[in-house]
Amino acid sequence: MIVIRDLNKSYPSAAGAVRALENVNLTIQKGDIFGIIGFSGAGKSTLIRCLNRLEEPDSGSISIEGTVITDLREKELRLARRKIGMIFQQFNLLDSKTVFDNVAFPLKVAGHPKEYVRKRVREILELVKLGDKEKAYPSQLSGGQKQRVGIARALANEPDVLLSDEATSALDPQTTYSILELLADINRQLGLTIVLITHELDVLQHICRNMAVIEQGRIVETGPVDKLFLHP
Ligand code: ADP
Ligand code: ADP
Repeated sequence: MIVIRDLNKSYPSAAGAVRALENVNLTIQKGDIFGIIGFSGAGKSTLIRCLNRLEEPDSGSISIEGTVITDLREKELRLARRKIGMIFQQFNLLDSKTVFDNVAFPLKVAGHPKEYVRKRVREILELVKLGDKEKAYPSQLSGGQKQRVGIARALANEPDVLLSDEATSALDPQTTYSILELLADINRQLGLTIVLITHELDVLQHICRNMAVIEQGRIVETGPVDKLFLHP
């Protein structure tokens, strides 16, 4: 379970502080696929980046599976982050490294022995159906394949939570659909919690069970997707 309590975050700006998040409270159940939707500038990215402290909130707390993320010091945070995978709109792959090495990277950083790394990379590339691409470089892949590598890398260390920051926004509709299906499969097979942000209603309706609407840094609605969208 993820519990966000009274989260606040401002950015300094020439015109005074921008309040990106205002008293955000949110509970996300373990194993859920939870979507956060809002227009550009609403605070989605700030919120999801606070979950792994790529952004530091000004106040409030976040706990993930009982670990109070907002209390952790740097060394503990590094360990906790291994259990929080993240995928990105622009994939964020290492272009000079092969598919194999992109996925191996977080495993090597975590200090796993070479034999384990090899076995785990193979296993996870099979899961995302890229078993035949381990020697390819990102530049040789389609957008959908790149995002599959991103997903494999995010899952390498067997995270409890997968964060998705507009992961399908750079993809065409058909590819978007196949990536969303893959995420839904992974959720079913591995039971991990997925939190995704999007500005697209289709994405949310396609795979999310529960959702929140964010406007100007505030959560204005939250509940099951079918209750909020399937009106009689
Ligand atoms: P979204 O992901 O919904 O588009 P963001 O979280 O990126 O929203 O942004 C929320 C608000 O915070 C916006 O007003 C944005 O301009 C501002 N903001 C985001 N990042 C920064 C930053 N690094 N410095 C200053 N302002 C920022
Ligand atoms: P080292 O990492 O010590 O150089 P390795 O023999 O494990 O030695 O790997 C050599 C390079 O090839 C590394 O970059 C490694 O990540 C990569 N590599 C290892 N095994 C495979 C494999 N089965 N398929 C593709 N690349 C691999």
